[in-house]
Amino acid sequence: MARRGNSIIRGIEISEIISVLNKAYADEWLAYYQYFIEAKVIKGIMKDAAIAELTQHATDELRHANMVADRILQLGGTPLLNPKEWFTHTNCGYEEPKDFDVVSILEDSIKGEQCAISIYSQLVDMTRDKDIVTYDIVSEILADEVEHEEDLQALHDDITEFVQSLKNKL
Ligand code: FE
Ligand code: FE
Ligand code: MG
Repeated sequence: MARRGNSIIRGIEISEIISVLNKAYADEWLAYYQYFIEAKVIKGIMKDAAIAELTQHATDELRHANMVADRILQLGGTPLLNPKEWFTHTNCGYEEPKDFDVVSILEDSIKGEQCAISIYSQLVDMTRDKDIVTYDIVSEILADEVEHEEDLQALHDDITEFVQSLKNKL
């Protein structure tokens, strides 16, 4: 635990930060697995472009889990030790892929990113001027989640517009 490092935290309980970070940690693992499995089962038009994006996002979510776990440890906490706890602590849940077509998979993922953006935006507000190190970490993750939503939405719009223009020509 970073003793001097933690002594600079003001106006917020460290136990409270650890608890919200553990919830975010659960979200990151579930997001990682969601992207991992979506990239495996996805079917249909332009699926290669979607697989590239989903795989890149899986890598990002795992990196986020790393960043959050390391910060929890610095604060003197313990990252969730049992995957069962991911489901009891998650904010954003897990969207099991039911339809494997590209558009449905992208829509499931966009929902997840929108939840992540809301959660990290709350964490940014909660830590601003109080815990600068956590603030930097959650700000960096928030920027990634905003990029993720945009990437998925752009791909989703390209695909739906392409399909629409095909229909119009037939
Ligand atoms: Fe993430
Ligand atoms: Fe994300
Ligand atoms: Mg991307």
